Amino acid sequence: MCFGLSRDTAIKSGQIAHLDQNASNSALNNLVFLCLECHDKYDGTTSQSKGLTLGEVRQFRDELHEAIASEWNAPVSFVGAEPPIQTIAGHYVREGPNEEAEFDVSILADGRVRVEGFALWGTSRSRGPNIGDLAFVAPVINNSTIFREEIPSFREETPVGEYRLELEFGPDGLVATESGANNFNFGMNVSFGGQYKRVSRRSTG
Ligand SMILES: [Zn+2]
Repeated sequence: MCFGLSRDTAIKSGQIAHLDQNASNSALNNLVFLCLECHDKYDGTTSQSKGLTLGEVRQFRDELHEAIASEWNAPVSFVGAEPPIQTIAGHYVREGPNEEAEFDVSILADGRVRVEGFALWGTSRSRGPNIGDLAFVAPVINNSTIFREEIPSFREETPVGEYRLELEFGPDGLVATESGANNFNFGMNVSFGGQYKRVSRRSTG
């Protein structure tokens, strides 16, 4: 709220608040960090008539998250050296006896990375492998980038979970940590988790 109303980015003590003021609804979209003063204002009954709405606070929260991400994402300039993010571009490959996966990582002008992934399971099967692919654009923070997407339910509007993929870049490769692949829209048994070697410092596209 401080940020939304006056672009105040000072460090504050605060609490995680429930936007709908229902303490049993801990869905991520219902949670927001509020400083102590703002938390009082938001929860205080006397201020309800002139207080902020749930939607306004949620929008302020999203604007703050964006502002923080773009700060952290700004290229650091080292004298005589390239920004570190430039060094992670390339083509990364994971190979196994019955599976293959690859990531293509390119750096965008705004400092974020674009990642395209392609994975196969069952490469030795006569009827051909199962396939999965994904593509995303995200910032790199502490040598790591994260892709998350809700897993839709076929029957109801509420998502059944989340697919999450984190790529941690090292000097010669990356480690992919994944959850939710079984219910995501990949072919059966297809997974992106594991260790990848960088085979080229150029992205293919
Ligand atoms: Zn505040």
